[in-house]
Order: sequence, then structure tokens, then C-alpha cells
Amino acid sequence: MKEIKLHWQILIAMILAVYYGIFLKDEVIYVAWMGDIFLRALRMIIIPLILSSIISGVANIGSAENLGRLGLKTFFYYIMTSTIAILTGLVLVNVFQPGIGADLGLSQAVEGLSGSKEPIWETLKNIIPTNIFQAFVENRMLSVIFFAIVFGFFITQVKPKHSHIMKEFFNSFFEIMMKITLFIIKFTPLGIFGIVAKVVSEQEDLINLLMRMGMYMGVVVLALFIHAFITLPVILRFIGRINPFKYFKAVSTPLLTAFSTSSSNATLPLTMEAVEHNGGVSNKITSFTLPLGATINMDGTALYECVAAIFIAQAYGVELGLLEQFTIVVTALLASIGAAGIPMAGLIMITIILTAVGLPLEGVGLIIAVDRILDMFRTAINVWSDSCGAAVIAKSEGEKLKV
Ligand code: ASP
Repeated sequence: MKEIKLHWQILIAMILAVYYGIFLKDEVIYVAWMGDIFLRALRMIIIPLILSSIISGVANIGSAENLGRLGLKTFFYYIMTSTIAILTGLVLVNVFQPGIGADLGLSQAVEGLSGSKEPIWETLKNIIPTNIFQAFVENRMLSVIFFAIVFGFFITQVKPKHSHIMKEFFNSFFEIMMKITLFIIKFTPLGIFGIVAKVVSEQEDLINLLMRMGMYMGVVVLALFIHAFITLPVILRFIGRINPFKYFKAVSTPLLTAFSTSSSNATLPLTMEAVEHNGGVSNKITSFTLPLGATINMDGTALYECVAAIFIAQAYGVELGLLEQFTIVVTALLASIGAAGIPMAGLIMITIILTAVGLPLEGVGLIIAVDRILDMFRTAINVWSDSCGAAVIAKSEGEKLKV
């Protein structure tokens, strides 16, 4: 019998899981463990995967000049696409005004949400770890990435005798991590079945929620779809000269996984595998851009931050002037860069924006109920943008892709 393709297996698992979550709510514990194990396995490999991939990637990039060029292109792509995403959200939320006259009521008190008061300079400074092992233990991705880039770069600066050994070591280390990744990927349908069944079973009174928050959710999802199916494909087509349909198909497994897990970080191993093996992007590019992208390039989150903050302002009847809207755009960009690639990270970051424009932090209570669902969509867009970025950059470096 011909084996069913993995993305179909995942889709079938998701549909079955929705039924399971709705009709067998109390039996969810019998399947939820599959999701837990799958996520644990993915989390287990993230740090060694990021470390080995970036070190080997940067060491293989070679000269400082190459690294600088690749770095600049990558940052330019990240900032540009995130900004377009935010502006898409900004336009739609102003056109549809989902918060105006919304009878929402502050249903949930939010505890433990104090706005992040840390100045940007502190955040930047903290990227440099004082103890690299502590950074590993605390999953501080930016610090791990920073160390890996420095280490990889200085591999190229020592005598050939030493650099050869280190390059070989980290290349082999990375190969092994990818083999483990491939092994874990085989279990994706089962893991996703467990995760989705649990998430669905936890949604109380979904119909009521959808009716109450429908307009807001609709605006977020519509804006995300415009970004995913118009903006990014246009960039793929006209800047990268890549067929967007074929490329979308090539990375469908990580996209579905991002949707189900709501975590760019947990999805990273699958993204790297798909972009490299199905998309044909070289390891040199994927190993540098994708771990970085999973941590700082979040188009979906950026867009969501902007729509959510303005929705809250509308619901409170606060008029936002041009300056406030501009502040929201800039802080949404920073918040998306700072958000970790884990579930609901974006929700916490909204407090930064609310603080910046003087909106009540309790506003988060308005949107918390539907955050988990929207998180699925925005995470899939985050991963889609990372994948497109890797492909466009690879093309600009003269690589031949498989799509
Ligand atoms: N869950 C998102 C991600 O991992 C972050 C967010 O909450 O927006 O990409």
C-alpha cells in the first residue's frame, strides 16, 4: 500500500482530534499524553539543534564579509515583512473597527500581568549571557544564538589544524541532531492528535465565544491570511522567483505543526528539515536563518499585537491619534522580536504596547479567551515567513532550489 504523505496524515489527525476533543471531552487524558511526549521530544532537541546548526552554519559561511552580507539580508527581510504585516493589521482593524460598540464586558481578571518595564537597552544587553550554561538551562534563545554565532565565527579565525577539527565536529553533531529530528517527525500525526484534542476539549462554550469575539477574530485571521496568501507569495514570486504554491506544499508539514503546537521553537526542527530537504535550500542558509527567524521573525505575532492593541483601545472608547498608532506599529515590531517562540508569548508582550500608549493593562482580559485559537494562526504565519525568508535569501545568494 502506498504510504499517505505526512501532511495528509497530520491533517487527518487534526480533524479526528477536533471530533475527539468535542465528543470525548472527559476521555482526553487517554490521548493528551501523546502530545506531551511529542512536545517534550521536540523541546529536548531545540538547544542542541540550534547550537550545532548555527555553529556549523556560521563556520561554513566562512569569511566575515559573507557573514555580514547574509546577516544584513536576513535582518532586512525580517524587519520588512514584519512591518508590512503590522500595516496590514493596522489597515484592517481601522476599517472594520471590531472593538467599537462591542459588548464584551471585562469578563476575566488577569493576574500576574504587569507591563514589562525593562528598557530596550537592558534587553539588548541581556542578549550577552554571563553564563552560557545558564542560558541553555533557561532556554534563552537569543543568548544561545549569540554565543553560537560568536563561536562559529571564531572557528574560522584559528589555525587550520584547529578549525578543521571543530568544523568536522559541529557538522557531525548537526547531522546527528537532524537524524533525531527525522525520527521524531515520524510521530508528528500522533503528537498533533494529542495536542489538538486537548486544546479543543479545553475550549468552553466555543459557539458563544465565537459569536462574541467573532468580529475581532475575523479581522485578525483575515489580516493574517492576506499576509500569508498575498504579501509573502508576492515576495516569493517577484523577489525570490520561486513558485509560491510549490513552496507552500514543500513546507506544509511544519506549517501544520506550527498551527497545532502554537510554538515556532518547537516547530523549528521540522521547519529546518522541510526547507532543506523539500525546498532545497542549502544547509548553510537554513542553519543560520531559521533558528534566528524562529526567535525574532514573527510576522503573525507582530500583526496580532497591533490589531489586539487597537481593538482594546476601541473597546475602551479611546481615540488613537496618528502618533499613538505609530507608537503601536513600532512597539508591535519590537514586541514581536522580543516574544519567545512559545505558546501565548504574544499575549504577554501586548502589555508592552498597552503601556507605551497608556491603555489599561486589564484590556488583555478582553482578548485572553480567544488568544489560544489565534495563537495557532499567527504561529503558522510566523513559520511561513521564516521559511519564505530562507528561500528568498538562498535565491539571492545564487542557490538553485527544488521548487
Ligand atoms: N506562539 C507564537 C510562536 O511561537 C508566539 C506568540 O505567542 O505570538 O511563534
